[in-house]
Formats: sequence, structure tokens, C-alpha cells
Amino acid sequence: MKTSLITIAYIAASALFILSLGGLSKQETARRGNWYGIIGMLIALGATVAAMKDGNYALLAGALIPGLIVGGILASRVQMTAMPQLVAALHSFVGMAAVLVGFATYLGPQEKMTTAEQNIHLVEIFIGVCIGAVTFTGSVIAFLKLQGTMSGKPLMIPGRHLINLIMLFVTIGLGVAFFVSPDAATGQWPLLIATIITGILGAHFVMAIGGADMPVVVSMLNSYSGWAASAAGFMLSNDLLIITGALVGSSGAILSYIMCRGMNRSFVSVMLGGFGTEGGTTATSASGEPQGEVRSVDAPTAASMLQQSKKVIIVPGYGLAVAQAQHSLAEVVKILTEAGTEVKFAIHPVAGRLPGHMNVLLAEANIPYDIVFEMDEINNEFNGTDVSWVIGANDIVNPSALDDPASPIAGMPVLHVWEARDTIVMKRSMASGYAGVDNPLFYKENTLMLFGDAKKVVDEILTAMRA
Ligand code: NDP
Repeated sequence: MKTSLITIAYIAASALFILSLGGLSKQETARRGNWYGIIGMLIALGATVAAMKDGNYALLAGALIPGLIVGGILASRVQMTAMPQLVAALHSFVGMAAVLVGFATYLGPQEKMTTAEQNIHLVEIFIGVCIGAVTFTGSVIAFLKLQGTMSGKPLMIPGRHLINLIMLFVTIGLGVAFFVSPDAATGQWPLLIATIITGILGAHFVMAIGGADMPVVVSMLNSYSGWAASAAGFMLSNDLLIITGALVGSSGAILSYIMCRGMNRSFVSVMLGGFGTEGGTTATSASGEPQGEVRSVDAPTAASMLQQSKKVIIVPGYGLAVAQAQHSLAEVVKILTEAGTEVKFAIHPVAGRLPGHMNVLLAEANIPYDIVFEMDEINNEFNGTDVSWVIGANDIVNPSALDDPASPIAGMPVLHVWEARDTIVMKRSMASGYAGVDNPLFYKENTLMLFGDAKKVVDEILTAMRA
């Protein structure tokens, strides 16, 4: 009876996770999707506790309660702009968990199994531990890079692909040694060495990736963490963990594919870890050599330009998130729309620091979904727009991605803001963006720079419009 109830709970939780993913794919249903996920996770936790065989509840509470408290505090305090680091840190926990589960399953008391079952079990353990180690160290490096503790500069060891390949073959060899080991006392050594090597592989893989390609890394590690969880599910014979891990793994892989397309990278080269090194250069920040004249405007002038426009396209970027200017911006949009100006938002797939970052910000400020458009839907509309208004964005509107083959972001599709009659770029200085690439947009004839913190300047525009 108890077993059937647990099975039913697992099926319900799996269904809720699938519904959650479906809900999260659209802005209108994202809130509902989140709730499905939360309920699914609560059911999963309850069923897992109920399924415990020897019922060491004190030990479970000792792990669960501090985890819940720390997780709750971290999630409520984290700034939206620091979300990628938090996500990377959480991925590292999944990787570490898979490694620990693998060792515990291998070294702990063994259940009675047939030879075939035992063989499959050994393969599960070895693969699970290796995926876990790659995920753990890769995520730690991603965390350090995103946090700025470690330089975003790619580490370019000569022959690094060969080194990776050698590490892969050595790991396969260790897998064979592990498989044929007569007992755990012998088998633990190849497993431990393979853990260290795959750990180095994961760290090396992410270290070789340049700053401009970090969005793909974040989503790839998301996918890896799913496969690590799935592997842990196999080791623990937990169907729900297998399903959930597979959902995260495959949705992360699909997201990586979408991000690759957004950045014009090949998915296969990403899967092989050989990406982000094109040209071998790290982006250089503004060299100090002026590329032309920069024209600037003040907030009241920008306000009147916007008010006199028939059509305005707003391009939000990371700076909007840092400044938390979305609520004031929503007010400006309201005033413009009520006065008859057509206002649209153009969202680049890698704007901000997180997939969907801008959509979340705009939803937070209750900006209607029907004026928010993806890059592909709106990119040909700039021509015929009076003002394109870039707020705290830089790399995603950099024309050098299209016309400078030597640029570190060459080939990345960007929003063609310069095709509008006028472009207003709002940022604090002439500094470069995340990729560290100088932006020729700032020197174009129809570009006007509006310097200042996005929140402060949007407020000034709002005041000017109200006056
Ligand atoms: P960028 O980092 O290219 O540019 C943001 C700009 O915002 C900066 O140039 C900065 O200029 C300005 N800014 C910062 N703070 C403020 C503020 N308070 N007020 C006004 N402006 C401000 O961001 P984009 O959104 O254009 O592009 C995203 C970049 O991040 C891409 O390179 C992408 O690859 C990368 N990335 C994206 C991830 C994702 O999943 N979306 C994940 C990891 C990286 P200034 O200092 O002069 O104000």
C-alpha cells in the first residue's frame, strides 16, 4: 500500500515538473509554471521521506533543515544580477551530490544483485561519478568567473583539445579497471583517480571559455547538472530523480542550443567543449582611442524626442537590471502609449546575465507581454522607427559583431538599433560591456549618448514628460 502511494506521488510529481517546464516557456503562464514546480517538489520531498527504509529522520532533518534555511535566505537576498552565480553554485552542489552518492553506493553495504544487475550498477556508478565531477568543478569555475573573482579571460593551454582527449581516454581506461576490480577495496582507486581527472577536465573545459560565451556555459552546466542528478537517480534506484534529472538535462540542452543560435555558435563544438576561443583573443576594453565624435543629450531633450516620436523601440540590457529602472520605465511607456506613440521592446536572447533575464524584469514591472518581442521578430522593424532607445545594453547592440570579422563577438546576431532614425544610448560611461569589446555604435552619426545611472536618468525623463 505504502509503495503504491509513493509510486503515485512520484508520478504526480513528475507530471507537475513537466507542466512546470511547459508553463515556464511562456511569460503569461510562467507564474503558474513556478507553482507547479513548487508543489511537485514538495510532493517529491514528502514521498522521499516516506520511502526511507531505515527511517533515520534525525539525520535527514539535520541535513534538510539547515539546507532549507540557507537556501531560503540566499534566494530571498540574491540580486537578479547575481542570479547566474547562484545558479552556477547550485549546479556545483548537484555535481558534488552525484559524486558523493556514487562513492557511498559503491563503498556502502551492497544489496543482493544478479551479475547482470551488478554490472549495470557499476557502470551507473562510474558514469554518475564522472559526470558529477565534471559538473562540480566546471560550475565552481563558472561561479568564480561570473562573480568576477576569476578573470573572464580564456585559458589557452597549447594543445588543450589533445589534453582533454587524453584525459577522456585515461578516464575510459580507469573505467575498465574499475569494472574488472574484484572488490571495492581495489575498485575505489580507479574510481577516485577518475574523479580527480574528470574534475580537472570540467575545470579546464570552463576555464578555456571566453567571457562572451558564458551564457552558453551557464545553460550547458544546467544540462550537465540534470544528467548528474539522473545518474544519481540510477544509482539510488529512484525513478523520480531519474525523470527529473532527464527533464533538467534535456531542457538545459535545448536551452543551450537556443543560446548557441542566439550567439551564432555551433552546438556540436559546444558539446565538445571547444568553443569561445575563436581568434584566441580576449576582448579588449575601450582602447582609449576615440573612434569618432560622441554626441550626448540630456534627459529633458531625450524626453521630448521620445514624445515627438510615432514609434519607439526600447532595447533593455544588463544596466537596466543593475539600476532597477524597470518600474520607472513602465511609467514612461504608459505616458508614451497614452499619447499615441507606438512603443515596443526588443529582447536579445543573451541580454542581461541570465536566459530570460529581461523578460523577468519587464514582467516584474507589469509591462504588457504583447509589446515585448524577441530579436528575430523585431529586428527588421528598426528601419522605420523614429527612436531606438538602448537602456544599459552594450554587446547586444554592437555593430562590430556584423562588420568586424576580428571582433571577439563576430558573428553574434545583434539588434540593428542604428537603423532607426535616431538612437539614444543610455549608460554611465563609454565603458565596454560584458564581452569587453569597444562599441562603434556610440560614435555613429545618429547616436546620442545619455550618460548616467539608468534609474536616475529614466526618473529624470519621467519628470520631464510629466512636466
Ligand atoms: P553588457 O554587459 O554588454 O552591457 C551592459 C551595459 O550596461 C554596460 O556597458 C554598462 O555601461 C551599462 N550599465 C551598467 N550599470 C548601469 C547602470 N546602473 N545604469 C546604466 N547603465 C549601466 O550587457 P548586454 O545586456 O548588452 O549583453 C549581455 C552580455 O552578457 C553579453 O555579452 C552576454 O554574452 C553576456 N552574458 C549573458 C548571459 C545570459 O544568459 N543572458 C550570461 C552571462 C553573460 P557603463 O558601465 O558605462 O554604465
